[in-house]
Amino acid sequence: MGRSGAVAAAADDQQEALVRALGPDMVLVGDEVGRYCRDWHGDVTTGAVAVLRPRSTDEVAAAVRACASLGLSIVPQGGNTGLVLGAVPDRPDSQVVLSLERMTAIRRIDADDFSAVVEAGCILSEFKDAVGREGMFFPLALGAQGSCRIGGNVSTNAGGINVLRYGMTRELVLGLEVVLPDGTVFDGLSTLRKDNRGIDLKQLFIGAEGTLGIITAVSVKLMPEPDRVATALVGLNALDDAIVLYRRARRDCCDLLSAFEFMPPLAFVLAREAIPDLAMPMAGDYPAYVLMEISGSGLVDIDDLMERFLGGVMEEGLVADGVIATSKGQARNLWLFREGMNEGQAKRGPHLRTDISVPLSRLADFVRDAEAAVAAALPDCVSVSYGHVGDGNVHLNVLPPAGLSPEQCAAQIYQAKVAINVVLDAYHGSISAEHGIGRLKKPDFDVRLPAVQRQLLTAIKTAIDPTFVMNPGCQLNFVQNS
Ligand SMILES: Cc1cc2nc3c(=O)[nH]c(=O)nc-3n(C[C@H](O)[C@H](O)[C@H](O)COP(=O)(O)OP(=O)(O)OC[C@H]3O[C@@H](n4cnc5c(N)ncnc54)[C@H](O)[C@@H]3O)c2cc1C
Repeated sequence: MGRSGAVAAAADDQQEALVRALGPDMVLVGDEVGRYCRDWHGDVTTGAVAVLRPRSTDEVAAAVRACASLGLSIVPQGGNTGLVLGAVPDRPDSQVVLSLERMTAIRRIDADDFSAVVEAGCILSEFKDAVGREGMFFPLALGAQGSCRIGGNVSTNAGGINVLRYGMTRELVLGLEVVLPDGTVFDGLSTLRKDNRGIDLKQLFIGAEGTLGIITAVSVKLMPEPDRVATALVGLNALDDAIVLYRRARRDCCDLLSAFEFMPPLAFVLAREAIPDLAMPMAGDYPAYVLMEISGSGLVDIDDLMERFLGGVMEEGLVADGVIATSKGQARNLWLFREGMNEGQAKRGPHLRTDISVPLSRLADFVRDAEAAVAAALPDCVSVSYGHVGDGNVHLNVLPPAGLSPEQCAAQIYQAKVAINVVLDAYHGSISAEHGIGRLKKPDFDVRLPAVQRQLLTAIKTAIDPTFVMNPGCQLNFVQNS
């Protein structure tokens, strides 16, 4: 038997053993595995020995034990919307995908306690809707919310558009239930607000991208529903004005700002390439745009606040033009430009996607310097910078010209990344503001990791997952580097 024949026979044995241990309902093999092994953009497709789909915490624990006994490692998967290949296997012969998609229950929503307990596989938008029906609000909001799942959000410490008001996912988590790599269950599903009994263990699993265990349920903070929301799009004469406007908005709007996104003029072109019938919201063209939202509940007159704020900054000339949405439909339309521009970029083919953060006060300088570095290295490429101003978070994406071969395109994407990272390092920024490391950013993370951090991370990994069962190709090659 040749090598590939031997590998196939071993895979058959492992699949049969998984089915025997866990039952046919939990184990997918063959063609059905494919859709779990492709990244969101469709740029990377791999494979896996099997996909395991448990329905309960006990079933997750049984699956973990079965994999350990067969020498298989586990790639946990939520909605598979992560953009850094954390949920896509890289060793198809020795990895299984463990999908949380059948653990979707909302165990409790407690409006008096301002908390909820939800299973890891619940889709974010479905959880937000359920919480909304109780007059409450879960503030995590991102373009992928119709597909990503709570466990994935916690495992990536997701950010999104409301971070400036409510913080990253970490700040919304009260407790976790986690199946550890040996199959034991860490039950930390507390809803206590204050609990200073030593080291807060749940923090280890938030942002760990499935390298330390499988999150099966999460307890989270809820807020009162901000039933008054004002949304405006403004045109600016320069990106620097966005930073000045942001400072003003935080002070003048009583810190009720819930989103403040900057976009280039190209955003409108890209969004309309994805959604052709989107109506243009403004007549003029400006070098930079900001989509801002203020929101609140109770006695605050949000519409009046937005009108007075924009009236003031337009009179001063800080804002060149602006529209305030007068209905939920109009507000949705404005947000479609911000969301549609991502899809528009995807339609143009493979491109560099970055997720960078720099100190807020230096954001405009960074964008200028980094775009200039890309233009100097790759004059035919188009840079698209947009993101969350309030978090100093820029997505500086680079679109190669049409007509390149896949190899030429990959070479240009790599060159663009190198050019941007040189500027980023000079600004002491982060290569991953909110998307995590996964497999995609591992080399860039690795070369920048100081020795002490490496030592600590390796100590934590080997203490919790000594046999490297959990998502071994993700974040760090702990074995090689230990
Ligand atoms: C259009 C679009 C817009 C986006 N916008 C944003 C944004 O604004 N902000 C932002 O932060 N991200 C954004 N993302 C990225 C992505 O949506 C987030 O990272 C999200 O939190 C991933 O959730 P998921 O359920 O899809 O996780 P997956 O992609 O399935 O997994 C992500 C990582 O978490 C691990 N994991 C998943 N579930 C578990 C679990 N239960 N236990 C342990 N490990 C687990 C996986 O192994 C993987 O390493 C966007 C993505 C898209 C496609």
